[in-house]
Amino acid sequence: MYNGLMEIKKVVPSGYCKGVVNAIKLAKDTRRDNPDEKIYILGMLVHNSYVTQELSKLNIITLDDTRTSKEELLETIKEGIVIFTAHGISDRIKERTVQKGLRYVDASCVDVLKTQNIIKEYLLQGYDVLYFGKSGHPEAEAVLSISDKIHLISSEEDLKKLSLSGDKLFLTNQTTMSYLELEDLFKIAKKIYPSLIIQEEICNATSSRQLAITKLQDCDLLYVVGDVKSNNTGKLVDIGKKSGIKKVLLIQNYKDIDLKDLEGADKVYVTAGASTPPSLINEVIEYLRAKA
Ligand code: SF4
Repeated sequence: MYNGLMEIKKVVPSGYCKGVVNAIKLAKDTRRDNPDEKIYILGMLVHNSYVTQELSKLNIITLDDTRTSKEELLETIKEGIVIFTAHGISDRIKERTVQKGLRYVDASCVDVLKTQNIIKEYLLQGYDVLYFGKSGHPEAEAVLSISDKIHLISSEEDLKKLSLSGDKLFLTNQTTMSYLELEDLFKIAKKIYPSLIIQEEICNATSSRQLAITKLQDCDLLYVVGDVKSNNTGKLVDIGKKSGIKKVLLIQNYKDIDLKDLEGADKVYVTAGASTPPSLINEVIEYLRAKA
């Protein structure tokens, strides 16, 4: 069992980033300013089911179904306001929203938009774009919708399979990827395409949370609090494992904690993805301190 001398610390920084805070504020402000309107979010505003539940209490309806495209979901909306998520949205969907006579609020994170704008610049100059991201993730989907000259790479294998000619090639990435994965992928890409221009686009919130994990001293157990759908949360788990931490566990809340995992642990750290509400992180820490 746990030894009663356990040290429990929160990793700094962890949890909410500015993009998530801004998206949630936009959604709540939209409800405050439009108390009688129907309000829909096209996908999960941020990847955390607790946030989705909180918004549903304000009668803000999240339309999210992995089997149905955002275009199809949009067609089901007949009236009201549509909120686009923090991950970005395609211009086509924006245009269709206006065509349907609906109003929209765009909660796209500024860091996501910055990456999209860089990609658009290179496309204008005649480049093909290699985009390292997660297949099916809304941020990657929004980027891929920009042009068919953007090629998604989700793994080294994808990169090796790709066969592009010409010397106008640009490589960048989804904002929430792991910097360790990127380092390896960039090296391989440069070998295959020596003229490749590379721009790393991990956002500050993601990189600072990843870096904080690599600096942990004598960590026996790391809890990563977050939703399984959250890419940046998943990457914190990967980084923890690759940093040599003995045990790294993804939990959604304190109820997922199995006290057996604490056996023999002297130092336990808690971190969280950029979309994890502070209340969930605090509950995990309070629970662990009560049990230590
Ligand atoms: S993780 Fe980064 S890109 Fe995503 S919402 Fe937060 S700041 Fe924006």
